[in-house]
Amino acid sequence: MSTKKVKIGNISIGGGERVAVQSMITTLPKDEKSVKEILRLEKAGCDIVRFAVKDELDAKAIKLLKEKTNIPLVADIHFDYKLAIASIENGADKIRINPGNIGGDDKVKAVASCLKEHGVPVRVGANTGSIEKSFYAKYGSSAKALGESTLKNIQVLEKQGVENIVVSVKASNVPLMVESAEYIRSKIDYPLHLGVTEAGGGDMGVIKNSIGIGSLLLKGIGDTIRVSLSTDPVDEVAIGKNILRAVGLDKNFVDIIACPTCGRCEWNLMEFYKKVEDRVKDINKPIKVAVMGCVVNGPGEAKEADIGIAGGEKCVIFKKGEVIKIVEKEKIEEEFFKELDKCLK
Ligand code: SF4
Repeated sequence: MSTKKVKIGNISIGGGERVAVQSMITTLPKDEKSVKEILRLEKAGCDIVRFAVKDELDAKAIKLLKEKTNIPLVADIHFDYKLAIASIENGADKIRINPGNIGGDDKVKAVASCLKEHGVPVRVGANTGSIEKSFYAKYGSSAKALGESTLKNIQVLEKQGVENIVVSVKASNVPLMVESAEYIRSKIDYPLHLGVTEAGGGDMGVIKNSIGIGSLLLKGIGDTIRVSLSTDPVDEVAIGKNILRAVGLDKNFVDIIACPTCGRCEWNLMEFYKKVEDRVKDINKPIKVAVMGCVVNGPGEAKEADIGIAGGEKCVIFKKGEVIKIVEKEKIEEEFFKELDKCLK
């Protein structure tokens, strides 16, 4: 079952569109640094950017952000329905708010009619910190509690005729995040936003995000993703894009296949790998490059590579497993990069 398509500013998500990468700036809209922060994320390949809206000045500042930046802007609002309305009126392309906690039917109605009037979508959902009390009492901190809490928020909006909905269920516990996303996906066909909350930083943060988001994407679940890391948001975007590449949803990049080396390796593969990585990192072409440790196993193990190198007393350059050149160690860099450049053209 494919999800519905939802338009957010100048892009669409769901309904078979490519999975979009989101991030969040750490400044408020009224902060003069925000334009620069959004442009940095754009440059890094971010598709959608979110920011917290804390007061009226933030909501008004969205107008300027819209003028100076190009990707869809999402206003994240807690509780205050007036800020939701002001954000939409000032040009937010999507808002993130939970109708269940904005203070009653009249306020929900006001936000809903503003969303419909401007054709702006809304993201609703729950995380382990915002599970509704009754569901928490009944199901504890579980996928069912997260899912049911989210469904209730969705129903509040549906009752007001809002159809442009994006859904998220998040947890910092990876198995719970995965189970909750599967639960909600089995109940609704709105596009789903994936993320592991409070994943931390460093290697463990990257691992949690990659496994949580990646395992769902492999099952065809997820229409937008946000890698959450205690680091520069530009890193979140880079890792988000790499997750899409690792699960095969983005093939437009140079994939480097390299062996981990073993006792058979007779050259400095690690150093050469870094040089290759540097050369190809900004090239968006579906090419596979292999950097292998030995001539005995390298060309065969990396048969699918469009071009590869295997080190030894003499190094071999190969294409699709067939050796095309045998070169002296001293000439390897010059010769290999000459061949690689031909492939990258
Ligand atoms: S390609 Fe050669 S050096 Fe690399 S892991 Fe395999 S056997 Fe070892």
